[in-house]
Amino acid sequence: MTVKQWLIESEQTENLIKYFWEIIGIGALNSSISKASALLFYEIITQILYRGNFASTIILQKNGLSKSLIDPLNSFIVKNNGDIILSNKVNRLVIEKDNVVSVLTGDEKLSDYDYLISAIPLYSLARIIDLNILNINIQFEYSSILNIHLWIEGLNLKEKFYGFLDSPLHWIFVKDEHFNIVISDADYLIEKDQNEIMELVINELKRFFPVAADAVKKYKIIKEKKATFIPANKVNKLRPEAETKIKNLFLAGDWTNTGLPATIESAVKSGRIAAEKVLKNI
Ligand SMILES: Cc1cc2nc3c(=O)[nH]c(=O)nc-3n(C[C@H](O)[C@H](O)[C@H](O)COP(=O)(O)OP(=O)(O)OC[C@H]3O[C@@H](n4cnc5c(N)ncnc54)[C@H](O)[C@@H]3O)c2cc1C
Repeated sequence: MTVKQWLIESEQTENLIKYFWEIIGIGALNSSISKASALLFYEIITQILYRGNFASTIILQKNGLSKSLIDPLNSFIVKNNGDIILSNKVNRLVIEKDNVVSVLTGDEKLSDYDYLISAIPLYSLARIIDLNILNINIQFEYSSILNIHLWIEGLNLKEKFYGFLDSPLHWIFVKDEHFNIVISDADYLIEKDQNEIMELVINELKRFFPVAADAVKKYKIIKEKKATFIPANKVNKLRPEAETKIKNLFLAGDWTNTGLPATIESAVKSGRIAAEKVLKNI
């Protein structure tokens, strides 16, 4: 069942679907509610609305995600005698007798490990190991996200972010003169050129805010074509577990079977699950 079918079956009115559920749905699933799985949406709603006030608190990182999450994580690894190797792509996992015996990177052959956790996307994993060996036969369709960064002079907005209703724009985040507009489920815009996208964005902005025609001083459009997989029912059932047929290889990543759509939460949860499975094996 899709999210939309579920909402209609649950007697949600057209307005409630359009002005409430669709906003949460597109934001969390990056997919039209006519395509996404009702089960995943149910999971999100339960986690947001039925686990106390803190679960639905909106948190804006003061210093950005890297400083808040990645830097402390790096320090933790280094403090515990771990090595962090950056910018070294894994090209192949060499399998012998149901074990990964070495990891071939651009300039190294690594084999000094007990267990491996792969945390790369499915399409990358397919390039370094035959997915048939892992019994993975899932083919995701992906959905795009557009980020449009604008530097606008003289536009003073009171709130730190706004959601749009009845607009192709979904969110705007405000930091002084820097405005970041997010458009999810944006496949229909991916092939459009910068001028077309900017025309749409400026026209929409003018409907909501007092933006002068020449106030946009600079802009940058970032198109992420394969931003997230579409959480449709048929693929959701096929998402793999952390454990694989290869004894020392475990899978993590937002696309594994976490019960959540492609989100940071899903990625974090998958990492925890994989780490727990490794600990059980030790
Ligand atoms: C534009 C955009 C906006 C988003 N907004 C949100 C949001 O607001 N909230 C939210 O929760 N989620 C959001 N998401 C989704 C979120 O970013 C993902 O769900 C999350 O990053 C997935 O984490 P991951 O660790 O599974 O994979 P990734 O973040 O994709 O990390 C995988 C890493 O593996 C590396 N890699 C790939 N192949 C190899 C290889 N062969 N060797 C070595 N390394 C390799 C990649 O370079 C990458 O760094 C957004 C995604 C996009 C694209």
